[in-house]
Amino acid sequence: MIDLAEFARANGVRYFMISYTDLFGGQRAKLVPAQAIADMAVEGAGFAGFATWLDLTPAHADLMAVPDPSSVIQLPWKPEVAWVAATATMEGKLVDQAPRNVLKRLIAEAAKEGLRIKTGVEPEFFLLSADGKEVSDPHDTAVKPCYDQNALMRRYDVIAEICDYMLALGWEAYQNDHEDATGQFEMNWKYDDALRTADKHSFFKFMVRTIAEKHGLRATFMPKPFKGLTGSGCHAHISVWDLDGKRNAFTDGEKELGLSDRGRCFLGGIMRHASALAAITNPTVNSYKRINAPRTVSGATWAPNTVTWTGNNRTHMVRVPGPGRFELRLPDGAANPYLLQAVIIAAGLDGCRTEADPGPRHDIDMYREGHTVQGAPRLPLNLLDALRDYDRDETLKAMMGEEFSRAFVKLKTEEWNAYCSHFSEWERDNTLDI
Ligand code: GLU
Ligand code: MG
Ligand code: MG
Repeated sequence: MIDLAEFARANGVRYFMISYTDLFGGQRAKLVPAQAIADMAVEGAGFAGFATWLDLTPAHADLMAVPDPSSVIQLPWKPEVAWVAATATMEGKLVDQAPRNVLKRLIAEAAKEGLRIKTGVEPEFFLLSADGKEVSDPHDTAVKPCYDQNALMRRYDVIAEICDYMLALGWEAYQNDHEDATGQFEMNWKYDDALRTADKHSFFKFMVRTIAEKHGLRATFMPKPFKGLTGSGCHAHISVWDLDGKRNAFTDGEKELGLSDRGRCFLGGIMRHASALAAITNPTVNSYKRINAPRTVSGATWAPNTVTWTGNNRTHMVRVPGPGRFELRLPDGAANPYLLQAVIIAAGLDGCRTEADPGPRHDIDMYREGHTVQGAPRLPLNLLDALRDYDRDETLKAMMGEEFSRAFVKLKTEEWNAYCSHFSEWERDNTLDI
């Protein structure tokens, strides 16, 4: 176990940023001087419950965020500060609805059954002007901008700076590209244990926003910032290993697409719970404008809209690109890094326990030939449908935790209601003269 006071002395850290992630995916922190960390590491940093966005009231006791030393990351661009993810507690007990606590509990459940989940995430984001209104690069206007070499190099200073930091942190970053929308990029680092991936993913979002700002830009992970352009996904690559992390339990060369029986059942769980888990992987009003969008100007959205799976083909919700893992293409940039991992484990674990069958695979272009598939469920059309599907899924709700599920559905339904009370130009344009 790392001793944070010792870590500060050894690495020249002057401040710790004790950080937790709320139910909306927001990161909230206190900056604690290294001199005060020894006490804080035991007691935790205090936060007024009502302001935590964990569905607590003004009358609740303080939330105490106890730093988890195993997560500590020194800010590569400001090494005198170290970020450390916290365990949310109140009056000595775990706060059940706190996203990182939900994930840790599910990882422990999986471990009891001999499963160790490793995941990689593929966050996509846009680099916009500082006011967030438009793509920052005026020359980045191609209709088919995917992998555009010149547009990528015009943002070299930002991308390389972030990639260098990932390399310095030992994340084994391996590629960066310009994605399918103008102003859109993706950066990849190596997969890891689910909790490590979630901590890195949180830190990555913080880092990308910070470095973009430093360069006078604004980075956004918003799922669909522009109508007509491809949205920002956050695909998850999932594999399950034996507890010692040495043998990939999803690989079986004898089986269909190299996916073992266990991998198939895990996938079966994801398929079974897909429309409910969308509430977590696609948690905003805007999320559904990505997955239900008509084809974009470049020709495809690359986002799924049906609960279907296939081999190495990007038009479905799940792609099995090769033996030993599969890619869930549903999640978007708004997904909470901890809840994203948690809900994948919850659904997959249920699939393993009940030997769920993922159903037939459809090796077709889902965008052009999807109408030929009988009985493929559509993903939810909007946040409310997804929340209702989640609320009906008693198994998934219980696995994610009753307290978490209650708080999540409540806060997200309030968000939906706030959206519905908003009057849009579209309404005026289409109703004024009726
Ligand atoms: N941007 C696409 C999405 O919304 C994904 C593109 C890709 O396959 O990387 O999911
Ligand atoms: Mg991508
Ligand atoms: Mg991908």
